[in-house]
Amino acid sequence: MSDTDITHYETRKAICEYGRSLLEDDLTTGTGGNLSARLDEDHIAISPSGIPYEEIDPVDVPIVDTDGNVVEGDVEPSTEVPMHLAVYRERPDVGGVVHTHSPYATTFASLGESIPASHYLIAFTGSAVPVAEYRTHATAELGEAAVDALGDEYNAALLRNHGVLTADESLGDAYDVALMVEYCARIHYQARAIGDPEILPDDEIDRLSGKLDSYGQ
Ligand code: 13P
Ligand code: ZN
Repeated sequence: MSDTDITHYETRKAICEYGRSLLEDDLTTGTGGNLSARLDEDHIAISPSGIPYEEIDPVDVPIVDTDGNVVEGDVEPSTEVPMHLAVYRERPDVGGVVHTHSPYATTFASLGESIPASHYLIAFTGSAVPVAEYRTHATAELGEAAVDALGDEYNAALLRNHGVLTADESLGDAYDVALMVEYCARIHYQARAIGDPEILPDDEIDRLSGKLDSYGQ
């Protein structure tokens, strides 16, 4: 099958590439974590379940409808389909979702502590990274807890005793938020290890959000 015969080839390829980046950027280990992108109102593409990221080809990336039925692809989709679908349902602004087990952020998730604004780059995700209540992985309940924590104002949440969920306009943007969350978690962890970091006030976060929106060429 040639690339042009594969529906939504570019998006499914991006899921493969960002999946490999999860390992290279130390955002997960093994087959942990998953990624998805909205294709249209009724469909998403999502990484397959339990396949090493190095081995996933675009044709393996399942396409799933909003009820969770696989409409394309021969392998099982991520077990976290219900959580991804919950985010797309509740957040029409979201085009891409990334779930990681990145170690510093997950350390705070295991403590049940949100990551506060001890570094200005937290403004990529909101004024902090809130914590979702603990729910068993791969359940609809985990999706409900995650969307409750995200609300309308956050682009990232910690999944208690589990990992991180990020959501943004595109898969690439959601991936960048996942990198920012891990960076901010690491800085906060290090700062707490040797001192008492100052937390930026909400009005400064508001100002930063506007500046970061227009950052770059
Ligand atoms: P999948 O391989 O099924 O996507 O599961 C990985 C994971 O992180 C579950 O929370
Ligand atoms: Zn997970």
